[in-house]
Formats: sequence, C-alpha cells, structure tokens
Amino acid sequence: MRSEYSDPQKLIDDVEVEQSVRPSAFSEFIGQHKVVENLKLYIRAARERGEALDHVLLFGPPGLGKTTLANIVAKELNVNIRTSSGPVIERAGDLAGMLTNLQHGDVFFIDEIHRLNNVVEEYLYSAMEDYNIDIVIDKGPSARSIQLNLEPFTLIGATTRLGHLTSPMRDRFGVVLRLDYYTNEDLFNILKRTAKILNIELITAGAREIAKRARGTPRIANRILRRARDYAQIKATGIIDQEVARQSLKLLDIDERGLDAMDRAILLTIIEKFTGGPVGLNSLAVAVGEDAETIEDVYEPYLIQNGLLQRTARGRQATPETYKYFGLKMTSDQPSLF
Ligand code: ADP
Repeated sequence: MRSEYSDPQKLIDDVEVEQSVRPSAFSEFIGQHKVVENLKLYIRAARERGEALDHVLLFGPPGLGKTTLANIVAKELNVNIRTSSGPVIERAGDLAGMLTNLQHGDVFFIDEIHRLNNVVEEYLYSAMEDYNIDIVIDKGPSARSIQLNLEPFTLIGATTRLGHLTSPMRDRFGVVLRLDYYTNEDLFNILKRTAKILNIELITAGAREIAKRARGTPRIANRILRRARDYAQIKATGIIDQEVARQSLKLLDIDERGLDAMDRAILLTIIEKFTGGPVGLNSLAVAVGEDAETIEDVYEPYLIQNGLLQRTARGRQATPETYKYFGLKMTSDQPSLF
C-alpha cells in the first residue's frame, strides 16, 4: 500500500489548486501567531535598516504552511523569491547559478533543505555567511578556483526534520521557527476561506466536521474539502453540511480522530506483526509497504502527538492508547513498559 503522500501523480492536481488558495499576505495567513509575529518584527527591522533579512529556517510537518510563509516573507520584503529544493540542487555549479542570479535582498527558498548533499551544503555555508562562493573552473592542472561575490540575500530553508540538519547548517540560520499543528478553530477558518475562494457552499457544521478530522494540517483540510465538494455535487444538493462531510470522510477512509488507512495500517502492523513493538523504522516500512521517510515525516508526528505511538531508542512501539483505539486488550507478552 502506498499513500497519496508518496504518489507524485496524485499530488499534481493538488499543486494547482494549492496555488489558487495559498494566502499571499500575513493578513490572510491564519494561525501560527507566534511564528507570524516573529517574522513581521524581523522583516520590519530589516526593512528599516535597508538590509537583507537574516536567514530563516522553518521546520514542521508537511502541509503546515512553510512554502506559503516563504512567499509571504518575500512579498512583505518587496523582493523576488527563487525557489528550489534540496534534492534538486545536485552540483555546486547548480547552486552557484541560482545564487548569482539573486538581487540585493532577494529570498532564496530551499524546500527540504535537509536533503542537500554534503558538497552543495558546504558551498552554501560561505554563501550564507559572507555572501561569496568559491567555484573551481577547469579541470586537471589548469583547474583554479575563483571567488564570486553575491548580493546580500535571505535564505529561507524549510525542513520536516530539524534533527536531520547538520549543526553547521542549523547554526547559520539567525531565525529558527517551528510550525505546529493547527487548532480546529484555525482549520475551520482556513476551510471557510478556501470555500469562499473556490465558490464552495460549506455550512458551519460541515466545516467543523472536516476541521476536526484534518490532522491539524491545512493541506489535508483543503484536500478533504475538495473531495467533499465532489461528493456533495454528485450525491447531494451541492452543499457541504455535516452529513455530507461525514459521508465523504467515510469514503476517504478517514475516521473520527482523523486517522487514515495508512495510519491504521502502521499501528495495526506494530500490534499484530511485531507484538506491539519495539520495531525498527525500516522493518515497519517494509511491512506496511511505505517509504521509511514518509512514515517518519508524515505519519509519525501526528500519531506521536496523539499518544498512539512511541518512539524509543529501540524502535517504534504501540501504547496502551493504541490498543484502546482498536478495542484490543494488551496481552502478557506485550512490553513490560506499561
Ligand atoms: P508546507 O510548505 O509546509 O508543506 P504549504 O505552504 O505548501 O505547506 O501549505 C499547503 C497549503 O495549505 C497551501 O497551499 C495553503 O493553501 C494552505 N495553508 C497553509 N497554511 C495556511 C494558513 N495558515 N492559512 C491558510 N491556508 C494555509
């Protein structure tokens, strides 16, 4: 079983709709107040000094608004934004090309920055610190290194896992901000906003139902909303009320707590195949047929936050709450931890 999070085909349609509903100013960005307040302050200070904003690192699970914020920051700074991502920048030359195109104060956004390779990362250090980059031209005996001076710029890095960033990389960010899962109230407001933009008739009770089950994530809330719109159009009167929301969530296999089929597969596999754990991430990934990385980035944080999964030094483990969730009893050969 492969989830939609690792299926590129399914994501294409999302990307297009996401662009149209993406907030483009702080005033439209709902929730994450602390992060927004911080950014506003630093932007104002940088603008007043006429300097480039310090480098910013945004971290948190996917779909919480890191890319959106990077775009808003550039807009508020009134500068251009260039976007790339860790795995795409393969060689130092690629990086040099992007950096030399930046104008004074521009934002350079690198998504999945923890996936930069070592060589590129090393080059980025001097670019971030001194706004210059040494590149080697020519090969063999005539090879020589030249230094390129760059315009002061702001690097905004986004990552789902702070722990996978090397410490020299982390240390070069003056501003490090963490995005948390959204409250139901925030998601409710995000859904109302999206519905308005996409011309979807969404009734309060319907919005509440979706917000409650969207795992604290705007991208998921918006995705459920679009599926609910399809359902309402074909099976109901076009309006998303609580019943329509419930039926569409059922069709999407999303339960009362917002868990989907993959969440349940992960938890059940730990209980049934590994007697409650602990089980190593890779064995778990093979058993459920999903990328280890996707499990770690997308599924685990929410399950851990909900007390349904524990990450221990020896691996992943079910909790008493997990058994309760499935209506199962823990047997005597279950870990003595509890
Ligand atoms: P990330 O980069 O963290 O994976 P994105 O910035 O791509 O997440 O956000 C995913 C989608 O969720 C965006 O297209 C946007 O529509 C929506 N979104 C994220 N944060 C907010 C927010 N605070 N308010 C409204 N919509 C949001």
